[in-house]
Amino acid sequence: MNISRKSGLYIHIPFCRSKCGYCDFYSIEDTSLTSTFINVLLTEIELTASQVKVKNQFDTLYIGGGTPSLLSTNQINDIINTISKYFNLDNDCEITIEVNPGTLDPTQLKQLSDLGINRISIGVQSFIEDELQLLDRIHTTDESINAIADCRQVGFNNINLDLIFALPNQTTDNWNYTLKKALSFLPEHLSVYNLTYEKETPFYKNLMEGRIHRLDEEKEIEYFSIAHSLLTDSGYKHYEVSNYARSEFYYSRQNYKYWQHVPYLGFGPSAHSFWENSRWANIRSVSGYISKLRQKELPRSFKEKLKTHQLISEHIFLALRTYQGVFLIDFERHFGINFLKKFVRETQELIDNKLAIIHDDFFKLTEKGMLICDEILLKFTVE
Ligand code: SF4
Repeated sequence: MNISRKSGLYIHIPFCRSKCGYCDFYSIEDTSLTSTFINVLLTEIELTASQVKVKNQFDTLYIGGGTPSLLSTNQINDIINTISKYFNLDNDCEITIEVNPGTLDPTQLKQLSDLGINRISIGVQSFIEDELQLLDRIHTTDESINAIADCRQVGFNNINLDLIFALPNQTTDNWNYTLKKALSFLPEHLSVYNLTYEKETPFYKNLMEGRIHRLDEEKEIEYFSIAHSLLTDSGYKHYEVSNYARSEFYYSRQNYKYWQHVPYLGFGPSAHSFWENSRWANIRSVSGYISKLRQKELPRSFKEKLKTHQLISEHIFLALRTYQGVFLIDFERHFGINFLKKFVRETQELIDNKLAIIHDDFFKLTEKGMLICDEILLKFTVE
């Protein structure tokens, strides 16, 4: 696959109808500030464009959150128009929106398509009713099924379904059922996430206080393997630890930017950016975000220029999570370091244990290596 080096744009919509117990993305349930938020978001886009003096070409716009499908079509239109005014978007720009099956109707979907949105990511998570309730999702399995059908009806031909596994008490049968049901819709892309217990979430608290129990690690690996076999046997390419696509054409361009250190700009509370070797994030507060922008100040919570050793570590961490791995020629050109010489012991050990291979100038993890990806990545920290 040719990795696009063009830049990406991310918009964080910080509203949800109700918080899911496992989620640590920043969002609030009070939507009364939505109009004000949109106004200042447009200001942030304009201020950022003038500050970074953008000449880059962009080939992705990702509207995520939160629940972007809570916005009206006019509000989404205002965002896309303002982005297009200040940034050079490719004609075939990948424009994605995340939607919650509990907040959709066919009319709205048609309008989103008319706005030029060409990729839709549906937060399905599970096709088991009890599991949706456990996760505090606001939708039913029927609403997910209808949402997928409506997207197809409207003409979306690049659909991602998000699924979560390793839920407390999840049975193998239930996980198999969810996967097979998802596959029956022939989605172009599937994101399959292992449930994590993030601090500050109700799930974490329930875990700590013994009200729910984590699946043991062997089960987690087994569930990953079930998903991996079913999806790859059905023709999907496993191109990143949690991501599968029907063909290279459907790899998420936006995600590749994060994984391959391609510059991107993020807008909205808690959004991150990576630009000219600097990283920054916005504050995680809708009211704080609004008040900063009303004073025409950018709402940053931090900004740092990454040192070379940080860039190298991040590059390796991100690239090894992808099916493609570390592009050895690019790595040397970029950092002036021969990757295989620098990590001679680590790479040889992984190759000997069939956890990694060298193929076509790429050093990459095998499927076996992907299963213990986090453990392997620790070997490549550069001080
Ligand atoms: S709908 Fe999505 S963003 Fe909102 S709380 Fe649930 S998982 Fe988080």
